[in-house]
Amino acid sequence: MARASVDVVVVGSGPNGLAAAVTMARAGLGVQVVEAQPSIGGGARTLDLGLTDVGLEHDVCSAVHPLALASPFLAEFDVPARGVEIVVPELSYAQPLDGARAGLAWHDLERTVAELPRGEGADWRRLLEPLVRHAEAVIELSLSDKRSVPASLLTPRGIAGSVAFGRAVLGQGTRAWDRALPGETSAALLTGVGAHAIARMPSLASAGTAIMLATLAHTVGWGLPVGGSQAIIDALVRDLRAHGGTVQADTPITHWSQLPRARAYLFDTTPRALVDIWGDRMPARAARALGRFKYGAAAAKVDFVLSEPVPWAVAEIGRTGTVHVGGTRAQMALAEAEINAGRHASAPMVLASEPAQVVASRRVGGLAPLWTYAHVPAGSTRDMTEDITRRLEQFAPGFRDVVVASRCIPAARMHEHNANYIGGDIAAGAIDIAAMVARPTPWLNPYSGAIPGVYLCSSSTPPAPGVHGMNGWHAARRALSQRFGIRRMPSLAPGS
Ligand SMILES: Cc1cc2nc3c(=O)[nH]c(=O)nc-3n(C[C@H](O)[C@H](O)[C@H](O)COP(=O)(O)OP(=O)(O)OC[C@H]3O[C@@H](n4cnc5c(N)ncnc54)[C@H](O)[C@@H]3O)c2cc1C
Repeated sequence: MARASVDVVVVGSGPNGLAAAVTMARAGLGVQVVEAQPSIGGGARTLDLGLTDVGLEHDVCSAVHPLALASPFLAEFDVPARGVEIVVPELSYAQPLDGARAGLAWHDLERTVAELPRGEGADWRRLLEPLVRHAEAVIELSLSDKRSVPASLLTPRGIAGSVAFGRAVLGQGTRAWDRALPGETSAALLTGVGAHAIARMPSLASAGTAIMLATLAHTVGWGLPVGGSQAIIDALVRDLRAHGGTVQADTPITHWSQLPRARAYLFDTTPRALVDIWGDRMPARAARALGRFKYGAAAAKVDFVLSEPVPWAVAEIGRTGTVHVGGTRAQMALAEAEINAGRHASAPMVLASEPAQVVASRRVGGLAPLWTYAHVPAGSTRDMTEDITRRLEQFAPGFRDVVVASRCIPAARMHEHNANYIGGDIAAGAIDIAAMVARPTPWLNPYSGAIPGVYLCSSSTPPAPGVHGMNGWHAARRALSQRFGIRRMPSLAPGS
């Protein structure tokens, strides 16, 4: 790459890299994005994996988007006005259980309460209703930069919402977690959501994840974009280009000297990758602090091609875009303990999404994609296709017969497709309580790259992993103010 000069370079084109790039370009700066992979979008790409000859597309990483629907960045960017339709299914998520039973979390809280087994509905309402009533506070708390308190949280409503959130997280984050949800179905239903953290259970980290995502299930919904996750990326890239920005694929960055001269560099990478790239210019103490960043447990991805929908024993499960296949609360806690101890679980936690059940156009030529991943120990080399098939057969007898093709990316090879997912750590860093409040370092500016003008903007920074662009937006705010003296954030509205 020629060492010309530009105002801003963003390394990595995931949702956070692009959120930062769009924000900087809209502030009137010249922005160049460079991406290692041949395709743009990082953890939000939708690609034809060549498993069929009909052009069937798979979400290679993210598939389901409650966080995109809750994101203040994407709300201001106004995704629907950009022609991106996110379809919210009536059934947010499901938890199959033995004996042809299932927990069902409907978008409608009252329907969920009504359909849970006797007594459990009231428990679910007691836990979730105060959070749903204060959903804005739950979102503000969950998607802030974890270093400042948003003004809206200092109002009586904000305080009430924060207390409700804190109480629920504490209740579900300790061994006393059965007290609020003693029933088997409701306990499993919430625990399946907490499994998105790939953390020890119970723990405050998995409880925080569970409470936040369960609240979104009954508010914004767990939507799936028409066209897959890539639709969100394509809208960001269109806006970036319309504001003069450029995107260059196929350009892995291993040393800062490969980059054009710029006044600000934002890295949609892990902190350790930043140290590899800038180590020879970085103060040694800061390099050590960033280099200590901890990776977490992992996932192995398996994409299937199906001739028919998954034959769930409970047919209603087919109405959701997200199924948490982990059995009971105790079984999931055991599975997560096993992988965190470095062993494969005897009955691994599996997440599954059949996008065509929510967005019919995802079915092509009579075939449909099934997105799955299983939790595995970090660095696992195991092909999980058979393990996931067996797990799904347990709750959907006959599943094997509808599989036409499949592809597994073992955890140890995830980094070949996205350098941020080291050893299969899809959260780009361990999710524990320390990480939730002080990720990636306890520094006052968590986006600092320890060199003037160098910033981190990836999901290794606050607030959290997921497709919401908030990490990139918060990082861009710091860079605009510190490097360009721009304190007013640019409008993100279409047409501006
Ligand atoms: C299997 C899986 C399922 C998931 N499911 C969901 C879901 O359903 N919903 C949800 O909200 N989230 C989900 N996630 C998480 C979500 O995808 C990520 O949290 C999100 O994409 C993070 O965005 P990011 O921009 O920080 O990083 P990424 O999206 O990971 O993008 C980082 C980009 O930087 C590039 N890069 C890295 N290093 C370099 C380098 N040295 N030079 C050049 N380029 C580089 C990478 O190639 C990549 O394109 C899932 C992730 C995975 C892997």
